[in-house]
Amino acid sequence: MMAETHDPNLETFVSIPENSDFPIQNLPYGIFSKSDADKAVGVRIGDHVLDLSKLYKDKHLDGIGIHDNVFDRAYLNDFMEMGKNYWQKTRLRISRLLRKGSAIEAEAKRYLYPISSLEVHLPVFVRDYTDFYSSEEHATNVGKMFRPNGDPLLPNWKHLPVGYHGRASSIIVSGTDIHRPKGQTKPKEDEPPVFGPSQRMDFELEMAFITGTASELGEAITTQEAENHIFGMVLFNDWSARDLQKWEYVPLGPFLGKNFASSISPWIVTLDALEPFRTASPKQDPEVLPYLKCNANHAFDINLQVYLQPEAGKENLICRSNFKHMYWNIAQQLAHHTVNGCNIGVGDMYGSGTISGKTEDSFGSMLELSWAGTKPLKLNDGSERKFLQDNDTVIMRGYAQKDGLRIGFGEVRTKLLPTK
Ligand code: CA
Repeated sequence: MMAETHDPNLETFVSIPENSDFPIQNLPYGIFSKSDADKAVGVRIGDHVLDLSKLYKDKHLDGIGIHDNVFDRAYLNDFMEMGKNYWQKTRLRISRLLRKGSAIEAEAKRYLYPISSLEVHLPVFVRDYTDFYSSEEHATNVGKMFRPNGDPLLPNWKHLPVGYHGRASSIIVSGTDIHRPKGQTKPKEDEPPVFGPSQRMDFELEMAFITGTASELGEAITTQEAENHIFGMVLFNDWSARDLQKWEYVPLGPFLGKNFASSISPWIVTLDALEPFRTASPKQDPEVLPYLKCNANHAFDINLQVYLQPEAGKENLICRSNFKHMYWNIAQQLAHHTVNGCNIGVGDMYGSGTISGKTEDSFGSMLELSWAGTKPLKLNDGSERKFLQDNDTVIMRGYAQKDGLRIGFGEVRTKLLPTK
């Protein structure tokens, strides 16, 4: 069934721009609204959005076993909660409806709207958010800077996917501006802390997965079962105020340096759409404990890019990385998260941790790119950055590409406004 929706030769009646992230093989889910209309579930194709709520009302989604219009909603949660079997049946039906000669081709305008005429919204109600720290290169770089006299990786790092519980309330969708946060920092070692706007504002290039089905308290999810719970993935910018973070994070970890905002891309790309791009993770040495072992590949080959755009300036490509670099994969992350019996919920979000590669141009944060401010980045307008300036816009893009098939995430774009 899955192979049918991946076929690179599928032909849709929708006009798809060249190099679009959203061909008929992708079909990511999101939430949109037309002016003066309620939010609804949509699927992105090319530069259009397919209205699933209207398709449901007109009975084009009959026979899947969905007996309530879960698409006439402000979030995807009710649809996700139905489970993987329904995600796959719905994907197959949508794929068939969008092909040349389908039942809706003649009345396509009734169901398809140009993206430029719509507003897109946060796709899920996020109940809980966890952030991992799973890139060996990122953890090593940060260790070298924050603990120059010790081993860059702490002793636990290669034995478990390190993570912390983040803040769900401040997860925002692409296009939402943020303000530079204020807080306590300690710029000078031998002087008391000061209060004011962060002077070391940074992004973190991450991806996040979203669980669509819940688990019971006390129940552990194995690496083999993990993907049955995972609905899909988005691009994730985990905003970080490095000076607040540095002063507050010992002994309990990130708090106000992280929880003021995290931005996501609006279209959730399903694991089914990413299937052709499954690949091996880096070799793990030392051997991991049995509950973290995998008998299949759970990494995905996804190209990632970060652009910095100054106010009234052009985009600067400042980082190229790849999701496949992650030392710990999504199945290991979810297995570890639940091995103690911690229950997961519908719409919970899990950040990967900053995705850095081995080369200097693949580092996924300003902290690493400017090596804690010691190597400023030169931008194409002649200016320099150690960290982000007011009115800078950070744009992250991601796509997988192979054998003529491109499955993309679009972008997550956020502008940093001055302190409120
Ligand atoms: Ca992070």
